[in-house]
Amino acid sequence: MEQTATYRAWAEVDTEAMKHNLNVVRRVMPDHSRMPIVKAEAYGHGIEGVVKALDNEDIRFFGVATPSEAARVQAAGCRTCPFILGPCFPAEREMIVQNGWRAALSGLDEAEHFNSLGKLYNKKVNLHINVDTGMGRAGVLPCDMPGLGERLKQFEYLNVEGIYSHLSAASQDIAFTHRQIRAYEAAVRELSVSLDLPYRHLCSSAAVFNYKAPSTNMVRLGRILYGYSPMPSPHNRELRNTLTLYSRVTLLRTLPSDHGVSYNHTYITDGPTRVATIGLGFGDGYLHYLSNTGARVYLNGEYCPVLGRVTMDQIMVDVTHVSGVQAGDVAEILGPNVPWAELTSRAKTIPSNIITSISGRVPRVYKS
Ligand SMILES: *Cc1c(COP(=O)(O)O)cnc(C)c1O
Repeated sequence: MEQTATYRAWAEVDTEAMKHNLNVVRRVMPDHSRMPIVKAEAYGHGIEGVVKALDNEDIRFFGVATPSEAARVQAAGCRTCPFILGPCFPAEREMIVQNGWRAALSGLDEAEHFNSLGKLYNKKVNLHINVDTGMGRAGVLPCDMPGLGERLKQFEYLNVEGIYSHLSAASQDIAFTHRQIRAYEAAVRELSVSLDLPYRHLCSSAAVFNYKAPSTNMVRLGRILYGYSPMPSPHNRELRNTLTLYSRVTLLRTLPSDHGVSYNHTYITDGPTRVATIGLGFGDGYLHYLSNTGARVYLNGEYCPVLGRVTMDQIMVDVTHVSGVQAGDVAEILGPNVPWAELTSRAKTIPSNIITSISGRVPRVYKS
């Protein structure tokens, strides 16, 4: 019997498509190495399945958000080192030093603590300086850069091997993005006077195809790796879909005219209606915000509108116009026929919010 036969909802993950998407970037930017971003369950694709598939794909680091995600990358048996993108608590730093994970540096207090832990374990601590060029989230401010390189050089157990920053409006504000790039370039020049910086990275998905940051030699790839480019580009056509979310019809009934569907009867049938109940809801990550927005699923080659509110475990769709629907039939919820962008605009959110909402109840099935 097929593995998914008893699944109410599952996400089919195409790791070959991810490798293809990495190769698109490799071809466009042959001089840059790549850091696939695998935070938040690899954007909903499942962290272990993704890092195992990409470990040998000529990549430099796996970008994660937390030490616990770094531990999962390591436990999956990867030789690629995790890079923790954001700030860490003092209590997390020991584990970082012991395991040799890469961490970000936002100031001298962190540097001092990392240095003392390096001394304790007699290990060099590899860090990348984060420069806040405008994101306002973490990093050293450009006004605090002068003299920083000399100070950091004095820490015996620190090896500052990289400098990075994060763009805050690459898909919205071109002029501001260019200012961020200039601020980053100035920080690289400043720090390079005293430090050797083999890893220099600034651009992520919204910037890789559309901006040039001359001193960089690595790109951080989240959404583009997963087939979604936030900026118009001729290269977007080359990207492949990496995740298709499916669910099954659990029950099929005909409701009479004037019958409410789902909580609070925000939808009322205007004639006899063939209604399929589908085995997924907001508990699986199909956002409640999609209720009454015209959201639709793709079933037996037809689009079927969601009726009334999304419930925790089930949605109801109109299949009156679709012939031959049976309990057990598979509906595409998100994928090539129902792209991220469609759900994003209906739920009035951003694409990464749609994809990272797919919950732990949904098994990930890796296509090979
Ligand atoms: C999440 C994250 C990324 C990935 O962003 P995408 O737009 O999905 O490519 C890159 N860099 C940092 C610092 C991040 O936090």
